[in-house]
Amino acid sequence: MDGKLKRAILHYFFPNRCPECGELLDAEGYFCETCTADMNVYSGQTEIDGAAGFFAAFDYDENVKNSIYLLKSGNGAMAARAFSHYLAEVIREGIPDVIDIITSVPGHKRKVRIRGYDQTRLIADALSEELGIPSDNKIIVKVKAIPEQKKLSADDRKKNVIDAYKVVSPEKVKGRTILLIDDICTTGSTLNEITSLLVRSGAERVFCAVCCKTPPPEKSSV
Ligand SMILES: [Zn+2]
Repeated sequence: MDGKLKRAILHYFFPNRCPECGELLDAEGYFCETCTADMNVYSGQTEIDGAAGFFAAFDYDENVKNSIYLLKSGNGAMAARAFSHYLAEVIREGIPDVIDIITSVPGHKRKVRIRGYDQTRLIADALSEELGIPSDNKIIVKVKAIPEQKKLSADDRKKNVIDAYKVVSPEKVKGRTILLIDDICTTGSTLNEITSLLVRSGAERVFCAVCCKTPPPEKSSV
């Protein structure tokens, strides 16, 4: 079944709504016009150690708060689809290289169990569909239970992620160009850590992409 027909059938049973404000959209819609106009397109500069580039669709602020909440609430398919659509545009424009595989930062195990899915995986898979590039979410695993990053200071975030992840399929990474996905980037410590693991496993290039990037700490309003 082609994607358009699948969307139309899904829309019949589960009407498509704007993940930010709940407004009813047509089957092909992502965010409604009003919410799209309010959302701040990311225009900052973020360096991830060892990465060939960093991309984000939007600033993480009050205009995307509901969609991020929805993404993490157990009913995140519409938000993942909408964010991925805009992130795909940024990636098409920003990465001239051929990307071999899309992979994702593994989520917090307990939360994934409660929610029933890993939202970062959901984004990677939706992005895979948008870009026509295969996704493989089994390349990286979390090997250490760590406290949630959002509760920690920037310094503690860096320490927290050391040795927390492992590349379990280095053969899938060697000599390849990888697009590493996360939902939100704050200090970048998780992306730094996983990028360096992928590079050490022989990745040719690693690009990082997230739905939303938090503004620098002094400007943060969320
Ligand atoms: Zn809306």
